[in-house]
Amino acid sequence: MTWEDGLDDGAHTIGRWLIDRAAASPRRVAIDDRGVSMDYATLAGRATGLADRFRAAGYGPGDRFATVSGNSSDHVVAFFACALSGVAFVPLSWRLTPRELADVIARTDPALLLVEEEYRSLADASLRSMTEPPLMVALGTTGVEAAIPEAADRVTPRPVRDDDPLMIIFTSGSEAAPKGVVLTHANCFWTNLALAQALPLTKDDVVLAVLPQFHVAAWNCQPLLAWWVGATVVLERSFQPERALRLIADRGVTSMMGVPTQYAMLGRDDSWRDADVSSLRIALVGGSTMSDAVRQQWADRDVALTQGYGLTEAAPNVLHLPATEAESHPGAVGRPYAHVSAVLADPETGLVLEGEATGELWVRGPSVFAEYLGDPEATEAAFVDGWLRTGDLAHRDATGTYRIVDRLKDIFISGGENVAPAEVEHALRLHPLIDQAAVVGVPDPVWGERGVAFVVPARGAVLSVDEVMAHARRNLAAFKVPIRVEFVTELPRATIEKVARPRLRERALRLMGEE
Ligand code: AMP
Repeated sequence: MTWEDGLDDGAHTIGRWLIDRAAASPRRVAIDDRGVSMDYATLAGRATGLADRFRAAGYGPGDRFATVSGNSSDHVVAFFACALSGVAFVPLSWRLTPRELADVIARTDPALLLVEEEYRSLADASLRSMTEPPLMVALGTTGVEAAIPEAADRVTPRPVRDDDPLMIIFTSGSEAAPKGVVLTHANCFWTNLALAQALPLTKDDVVLAVLPQFHVAAWNCQPLLAWWVGATVVLERSFQPERALRLIADRGVTSMMGVPTQYAMLGRDDSWRDADVSSLRIALVGGSTMSDAVRQQWADRDVALTQGYGLTEAAPNVLHLPATEAESHPGAVGRPYAHVSAVLADPETGLVLEGEATGELWVRGPSVFAEYLGDPEATEAAFVDGWLRTGDLAHRDATGTYRIVDRLKDIFISGGENVAPAEVEHALRLHPLIDQAAVVGVPDPVWGERGVAFVVPARGAVLSVDEVMAHARRNLAAFKVPIRVEFVTELPRATIEKVARPRLRERALRLMGEE
């Protein structure tokens, strides 16, 4: 049993890219991980070796492996080993608290949990709280292959198909709990093909990868395409502006993808003035709205940022604005990638709007996700007549170019991370002295948005802001913790069950303005 048994001729299985690339240019550097280079032959050799182990132990299509790992070449090896063997790769966020992590592990129900040493104690704390914890395997230690235990119901895995899940990415919707977006090999093939056509990379490109690998964009917004064409990926563990600027100059980085917060932070860094960013050829920005000041700051350095819009459910690339049009279409996010169809629909009636219009953006195409893991109801609710409802309100001008004008879904985006107010409110209400809580997002100059919490203490309770904040920090990842807590005697209501969020948002804005 080898990885080759896992490849079904003709299928767009993503692992095949790496094999082809390693055969064509074995000695090119595929990954530069903190100064340690790994060439294509080594990456492919390690990935196929691990895939062989997975399949020999009985793992293949239908199985899921969750990971908790920082960006590293070992994590990339695990990704390709999963791709080659047909196991779904489920990278979980190390930003989560043990409680939050236990929740997504339970939702994933993985056959194995692969954990990098640095996150061992976080994983241990999560697993301790679970009644049926999965088996944990250390990722990145030598001999990880040998440590793969046999599958409980071991059968010979079948070959990988296009419609097998490649990765499952957790994302916050408007509900209290994050949902696992199942993306197939075909979904990821199409999104990368479209990216290759719109923003071509070549083997001579050097791609700086700074997004954490539990996001879909950390794979499908350049790194996978880079490994497809034989380029070099400079992998960063975490985003540090000064270091990133130095790497761009020292390594001659030609391409990168970042969220607006990151481009803003680079531009604000002390070292920006003397930084050499002239090697950058494709600088993609997306994930939330970017201010024109940031675009201009980069334009002044002759780097035209390419705006992109997408969402995890579409793997994620949906719209992009060529860099050459940034000046003529300020604030726009562009037009559909080749594989995507987009329409605008009246949010009230659901009728599709023609020509210049403002409405909810609906998208369709081969990269749109298959399902939310174990949640058929949410999957059904995400679609209308085969169109994915993005929950974003967009304007389309006479040239067919789109601009995101508002969000219909109840989330806010902090430093590129989606936050569902419902999830934060739920966590706050776990405090015995909190009766009700409502959270709204307010603009933040650094993070894009941050949450402000309105809290109604239980009757007669004596509660301090510090206590609420400490409780929030214990239960929520840092990016979800509100920046301000305001005690109120009651929440404004639109109906008996619904909080009047627009009124709370106005109040939050006033409060923040007073600071
Ligand atoms: P995620 O699934 O985490 O990638 O988040 C997707 C959401 O991020 C979208 O539905 C939008 O609300 C928002 N988003 C992504 N790209 C942009 C953009 N370029 N401008 C404004 N909002 C964006």
